[in-house]
Amino acid sequence: MFLPRTEGEVAWVLREGRAVLPVGAQSSLTGGATPFGEWVLSLARMDGMGDVAENAVRAGAGVALSSLEAALRPHGVFYPPVPTFHGALVGGVCSTNAAGAATFKYGSTRDWVRALTVVLASGEVLELARGDCRARDGRFETVRVDGTPLDVPAPSYVMPRVAKRSAGYHSEPGMDLVDLFVGSEGTLGVITEAVLQVRPAPARLLVWAPFESEAAALDAVRRLREEAIATRRGDAAAGLDVASIESVDARSLELLREDGLDREHGVPLPVGTRAALLFAVESEGDFADEGRIEDLCGGGRAGPTLVAPPGDDRRASALLAMREGVPLAVNRRIKAAQRDHPSVHKVAGDVIVPWERLAEAMAVYRAAFERRGLDHALWGHVSDGNIHANAIPRTGADVHAGEEAVAEIGEAVLAMGGCPMSEHGVGRDPVKQALLRRLYGDEGIAQMRATRRALDPEGTLSPGVLFP
Ligand SMILES: Cc1cc2nc3c(=O)[nH]c(=O)nc-3n(C[C@H](O)[C@H](O)[C@H](O)COP(=O)(O)OP(=O)(O)OC[C@H]3O[C@@H](n4cnc5c(N)ncnc54)[C@H](O)[C@@H]3O)c2cc1C
Repeated sequence: MFLPRTEGEVAWVLREGRAVLPVGAQSSLTGGATPFGEWVLSLARMDGMGDVAENAVRAGAGVALSSLEAALRPHGVFYPPVPTFHGALVGGVCSTNAAGAATFKYGSTRDWVRALTVVLASGEVLELARGDCRARDGRFETVRVDGTPLDVPAPSYVMPRVAKRSAGYHSEPGMDLVDLFVGSEGTLGVITEAVLQVRPAPARLLVWAPFESEAAALDAVRRLREEAIATRRGDAAAGLDVASIESVDARSLELLREDGLDREHGVPLPVGTRAALLFAVESEGDFADEGRIEDLCGGGRAGPTLVAPPGDDRRASALLAMREGVPLAVNRRIKAAQRDHPSVHKVAGDVIVPWERLAEAMAVYRAAFERRGLDHALWGHVSDGNIHANAIPRTGADVHAGEEAVAEIGEAVLAMGGCPMSEHGVGRDPVKQALLRRLYGDEGIAQMRATRRALDPEGTLSPGVLFP
């Protein structure tokens, strides 16, 4: 593994290597950061940070989001679009256009990247500031740091209109060259530094609400979303500014119970709870009274809501641990199954549909697993219509059936105008690579390959990522 500290060292590795895989914290869930014989180029040591100025901060690709958060806190600002895993590095989140729970309010990484420094496969360097180079007549024309010209075709396929996507190269009329690199999963260049926008940190309260049915929970999500949109527009005086809403389904709740997490974290799950929401409300001043929260959660509740007010970090951590406990519980079961069946691995969709189609989509996801007799759990960033549809495989045959189910779910999502790769990317996952081709067709894949060829003619960078 190479652990460069300077752009010059990164350039050397790229010039000398025949196949190079850039990696951050290797938390990718798509195999994108898992080497198969390439030279591994870790950006972890490029972890310098500048001062906060004009609501932005310059951060090396190796800065962990947890370190970024800690460095920003004393300045009273924060970087909003963090994924759930805060150990991810700046280069990794930019390369995957990562997004988290609060996309509903803040968008994804792309919306917060002001500038990037990129080292190309040739070792040449690009300094890209947003606004400096936009696609014109289907091409980007710019110059490298050494003054030589660069001409790159811009993709022109139409991307699905959903809250977030990590599905191949960005494509939009007149798009910015910065946006080509955000979400390119290490296939176009190595990001060594980013200028990230930050903003004043609001006070935040967290609410856990248990429901008797998924329908009641989705009704509450609809009301909370409407209130938040009206509040941010200025139409609802003293309304609730809901930044994120997470959901866990009945099977997810069973997993939490089976693992004793409700008792461990002091978050009771009343009998009859079939779904739960965890949502964050933000405010720059006073919070609306808790009665409003109760009203918006509405009927069909299986028990009282639990609130972690601003400053109650213990209660907030307990509520977050319930949500984060679900993927951990699934991973524990997969690990246990691997003892008898080493081929067992995680099988999950990372899908998003327009919010209005979510209830219908959830029924489709469940049916795809149930028809194959698969244990499964659905949870995720419900405010965006982004659900992680996970099989819980016990055998190799379950893995195979789960992959079929995920492919079927991906097709259904496409038919609903959604995107089958919402935040984790495509990586080396064969199901996701096939769905990428379904999404943009052969012509779209050909456009992506042409863009890649212009920047990396030998295909040295991240071979096998995005394209088989
Ligand atoms: C528990 C858990 C929760 C997660 N939750 C979320 C979530 O809520 N939202 C979300 O979006 N993702 C989530 N992820 C996935 C993952 O954390 C994100 O994809 C993250 O952005 C990856 O960052 P990383 O530093 O680990 O990058 P890596 O995994 O190391 O790399 C990811 C990809 O980017 C490329 N890459 C890495 N660094 C560079 C660079 N400097 N230049 C060019 N290419 C590079 C790699 O080649 C690879 O293709 C989660 C993962 C885990 C394990």
